[in-house]
Amino acid sequence: MTEQKKKLEKLSGVKGMNDILPQDAALWEFFESTVKSMLRAYGYQQIRTPIVEPTQLFTRGIGEVTDIVEKEMYSFTDALNGEHLTLRPENTAAVVRASIEHNLLYDSPKRLWYIGPMFRHERPQRGRYRQFYQVGVEALGFTGPDTDAEIIMMCQRLWDDLGLSGIRLELNSLGQPKERAAHRKELIAYLEQHVDVLDEESTRRLYTNPLRVLDTKNSAMQEIAQNAPKLVDFLGPESLAHFDGVQRLLKANNIPFKINPRLVRGLDYYNLTVFEWVTDKLGAQGTVAGGGRYDPLIEQLGGKATAACGWAMGVERILELLKEEDLVPAPEGTDIYVVHQGEAAEQAFVIAERLRDTGLDVILHCSPDGTPASFKSQMKKADASGAAFAVVLGENELAQGMVGVKPLRSASVESTGQKNEQATVPVEDLTEFLINAMVATAAGAD
Ligand code: ATP
Ligand code: MG
Repeated sequence: MTEQKKKLEKLSGVKGMNDILPQDAALWEFFESTVKSMLRAYGYQQIRTPIVEPTQLFTRGIGEVTDIVEKEMYSFTDALNGEHLTLRPENTAAVVRASIEHNLLYDSPKRLWYIGPMFRHERPQRGRYRQFYQVGVEALGFTGPDTDAEIIMMCQRLWDDLGLSGIRLELNSLGQPKERAAHRKELIAYLEQHVDVLDEESTRRLYTNPLRVLDTKNSAMQEIAQNAPKLVDFLGPESLAHFDGVQRLLKANNIPFKINPRLVRGLDYYNLTVFEWVTDKLGAQGTVAGGGRYDPLIEQLGGKATAACGWAMGVERILELLKEEDLVPAPEGTDIYVVHQGEAAEQAFVIAERLRDTGLDVILHCSPDGTPASFKSQMKKADASGAAFAVVLGENELAQGMVGVKPLRSASVESTGQKNEQATVPVEDLTEFLINAMVATAAGAD
């Protein structure tokens, strides 16, 4: 008995993994619908892949010596069959896997997009979580710089559509693997002359991933990173022409950018164009999107050599920016809240369904404990719901075939033309009355 009485311990979610609560729903919906209409404008099609993938997809697809594969993956062995699995830390490798597996590229190139949660075991802080959402695009089978420029401009259009300003574009070219190899040789030789300044992580990366040393955030290493041999000086004419093509299209469309020779991106599979969109308004976690070309990846994952480029965007960071800039949309109220009493309950249920049949959004009052609440307290709930109108079903009125309609918002008051008062309407005219009133309300609110 005493065991049963003991208060059960409250459970919490996993550290760094967030609940998205109803108060943020309007913000997420605003972002999602804006991003979807932008993607439609460029002819992108959605792809949904599983959250769990074979671990090998990421070790092969992202690269063994990247932050993600070295230390951020949630990997486990399936207890039932011993398979090595990983919660996806990013989605490019999976989109490529699915495209190869289902032969999506057999007839023509594809423009694909996704949205969903990604998982990385990082130190949680503002803008850095262990489960976070990314929206991303992958343009598969397009070789030209016009596609690089187009995917970059898609981001700019999204910022504009969302009302965000001050997100800067940084651009670089990583050239082709051969050019990188020549640069890498000189870079290692240069860094070897400065081993005394390198921090532990950079020393470790000196021979495995020296390009990433240039990406260091360590202030003591900024000078040697700044003066290191630059990859752009090793690019051949074709790589330079591609880079130039991207820049020309951006300029022709008035997209400002800065060339950042130290921009190398975390993932292994990039070539030619790389870019990031950065803001100063989010502290240390200022990169809201990053991407580039990854022509070698499809072949690396077992497909036919196919050009590819794309980007991924951190949704939480963008939502944080929207909040920062006061661009959070007001939550949309329901159209109608139905209040009722006594014998009217059953008819209220039926009327609410008929109203929904016509496309109206309706909340039917329901007492938490099953006992009918007073009209007054029901009206309070109706008001708090944000509904435009309350439909009031009283036993006596209903017996005479009449219902009450009370405007709850100032815009809806004007629409009925009768001050803040309740109108009495025959039941059979209710739908028409409400639809007209809703239309008038919407027109008044504009
Ligand atoms: P960072 O340098 O901030 O770790 P990254 O290079 O690891 O970023 P990408 O793999 O390029 O990031 O992912 C694309 C975008 O996803 C980032 O620009 C960022 O907006 C977002 N992102 C990455 N990791 C996280 C995270 N742990 N929490 C929230 N958003 C993230
Ligand atoms: Mg990272």
